[in-house]
Amino acid sequence: MTGTGIRPSECVVDLDAVRHNVTTLRGDDGADICVVVKADAYGHGAVAVAKAAVEAGASWLAVALVEEALVLRKAGIMAPILLLSEPPVAAAKAVCDAALSPFVYSPAFIDALNSEAQARNTTVAVHLKIDTGMGRVGVIERELQIVLSHLVAAASLRLDGVGTHLARSDENDPAAKSETLRQLEQFATLLPQVRHAGFQPRWLHAANTAAALQYPTARCLQFPGGTPTTLLRCGIGVYGLSPSVDVDAAANRLRPVLSLCSAVSFVKHITAGTPVSYGHRWRAPKDGWLATVPIGYADGVPRGLTNRATVLVNGRQLPVVGTVTMDQLMVWSGDTPIAVDDPVILIGTADTLSVRIEQWAQTLNTITYEIASQLTARLPRRYVGVSPADDVTETLR
Ligand SMILES: *Cc1c(COP(=O)(O)O)cnc(C)c1O
Repeated sequence: MTGTGIRPSECVVDLDAVRHNVTTLRGDDGADICVVVKADAYGHGAVAVAKAAVEAGASWLAVALVEEALVLRKAGIMAPILLLSEPPVAAAKAVCDAALSPFVYSPAFIDALNSEAQARNTTVAVHLKIDTGMGRVGVIERELQIVLSHLVAAASLRLDGVGTHLARSDENDPAAKSETLRQLEQFATLLPQVRHAGFQPRWLHAANTAAALQYPTARCLQFPGGTPTTLLRCGIGVYGLSPSVDVDAAANRLRPVLSLCSAVSFVKHITAGTPVSYGHRWRAPKDGWLATVPIGYADGVPRGLTNRATVLVNGRQLPVVGTVTMDQLMVWSGDTPIAVDDPVILIGTADTLSVRIEQWAQTLNTITYEIASQLTARLPRRYVGVSPADDVTETLR
């Protein structure tokens, strides 16, 4: 999306950083990667990120919803797309039309998708999701044989991959580590059942970003009697963000992709004790400069940051003061004058100073995923680091 250029607030998305992060996550061994671009690429813009990821060698893309996959197909993206959860039965037609590869795990959907594929005389590639401990979606061990029997009977489906999802790979305490290893172990012990059902899937996958960075075994999964390729399923790391406080993106040479920028829209010199914003939750400690920035919680700057964040202006770190409102927030410049149109960085780097999404997440007791994915559509995304290949596809559209 591009803005009108009237309001100065925008997300700047660095596609060079996307490519760097994809390469970094793939590692020295050049592992195959499925780049997760659900939720509009965690708020970064799915089409642009997907194109950059494919350019950097991503074998697969993944989304949560059929609707999200259709946006990519409409933009001319032909890479294989994994649906991370089984869509409703009624979506079988759309899955075939757009050549999507869903995770499957329930007999009703497998049968419905097979009928749809059969009616068109085509074959649909699917991935089997096994629940080894996430407790969300996926077939559990006790029901694996039933689901496999439906897949065996589904002559118009091809089992192209088998995957599982880790619940605690981003935590470093011993209990979480042993649970992650147990999940990987359970996954490995169930694969012979898949083989005995007559399948030889091309792909195996278990690693999200945290596991790709921390669990070497999740990077080289073994299929009994075959040599399928391990696929890493990475989202957050592609955006250069830490999965948790225990797994640091920067320490793993991942670069933040998104900056959140605006500019001062109004300034005034206020006297000591002047209250600011709804509820008068802040008062000027002395006479000084107060600036208004035209960005608020309707853009995804959480109201919880009231009196609890800093922004970068003119090489200084200034506090956000008073309640964050829907469309605007205020910053305190104290004795130092500040002017309309001065650039404001809410997330990003200026010289030696930086504000990271990780800091917002810690302040708000949440995770980077939630902050990034809640930056709303009202904020234009401006892409930098666009490669010549991106330009070509952009023109064709
Ligand atoms: C979102 C998601 C991922 C990506 O996880 P990150 O922690 O962002 O790398 C991988 N697999 C599944 C099933 C997911 O839902």
